[in-house]
Amino acid sequence: MNTQIIKITENHMESEIEEAAEIIRGGGLVAFPTETVYGLGGNALNPGASADIYAAKGRPSDNPLIVHVADFESVYKITKEAGDTARILAEAFWPGPLTMILPKSDIVPKETTGGLDTVAIRMPNHPVALELIRRSGGYIAAPSANVSGRPSPTTAQHVVEDMDGRIPAIIDAGPVGIGIESTIVDLTGEEVQILRPGYITPDDLSRVLGRRVSIDPALTQVDKDVAPKAPGMKYRHYAPRAQMILIEGDAREVAAYIGEKALEAESGGKRCGILCADDTAGSYHASCVLSLGEREDEAAIARHLFAALRSFDEQGVDVIYSECFNGGGIGEAVMNRLLKAAAHQVIKL
Ligand code: AMP
Ligand code: MG
Repeated sequence: MNTQIIKITENHMESEIEEAAEIIRGGGLVAFPTETVYGLGGNALNPGASADIYAAKGRPSDNPLIVHVADFESVYKITKEAGDTARILAEAFWPGPLTMILPKSDIVPKETTGGLDTVAIRMPNHPVALELIRRSGGYIAAPSANVSGRPSPTTAQHVVEDMDGRIPAIIDAGPVGIGIESTIVDLTGEEVQILRPGYITPDDLSRVLGRRVSIDPALTQVDKDVAPKAPGMKYRHYAPRAQMILIEGDAREVAAYIGEKALEAESGGKRCGILCADDTAGSYHASCVLSLGEREDEAAIARHLFAALRSFDEQGVDVIYSECFNGGGIGEAVMNRLLKAAAHQVIKL
């Protein structure tokens, strides 16, 4: 299949997006930008389109897709019930990086929800995504546009690397703004629960709702017997090809330890990658030292993460040592992605 790149320039947005929408209305797939990462979109109400999304990504079929909408009215059509909590959260955070899980209505096929009776819904904050959704019929199922297991794409070039020849079209509207996937909240239970940490933090949510928001315990326990409630969270993900090890502890000790390990690896003939922040980047000597930005600038750290993980692959490193980026807020989401990329290999100093 020949993959067409549809480039969006300010002056020519509508006709280009209409071209992409026509593909989706016809049952085809189009990769498109959102503010979080690039998505691989198809008509969410068309079981065939959803099946094609799983095939293009090589995604396990029990891992449900997020349905993207362009207005809140659409939520009523694809859910059995959307109560006050959904409305309040949408008013506060939509369009934006928040995905809500609600009981699905009959028009949403099980192919889209991975066999579940619930559906994940989000309104993205990106003009191209919103226009595409409106012109495509209102409901676009879209997981991140990477091959399953690879880091999520934050530029159209990343999508080309993974999807060229597999889908009819990719919309290129430049790099995304946030760079880490949406926060997922489950609204089907007694309490509001976070199933995947993201740019919107637990504090942001409880401030708006005026009550505590819990976090799926499976996310913080390494206990292999507790399955996370978001099926996708159980898979190794975001992973560079090289083995990756996170080093946790006092900042100076971490830098010294990583420096030593890098020296050891390189003198043993291995290419070593180091993932760090600006303040330590200058002190390391290794084949590939990548800084995510200033440590205090959590948004920058999140925005640069996936591109850095992809660069390690391009540089062909054999082993990667990474600093940790805990620290509340978005740091939580960054650490969640890093732990998965490292298959939970952490050395605590
Ligand atoms: P992606 O779109 O690739 O960022 O992945 C979507 C994430 O949302 C995966 O982790 C899914 O398991 C999760 N998800 C989607 N729909 C549901 C649902 N109905 N219930 C729980 N998790 C969901
Ligand atoms: Mg994904």
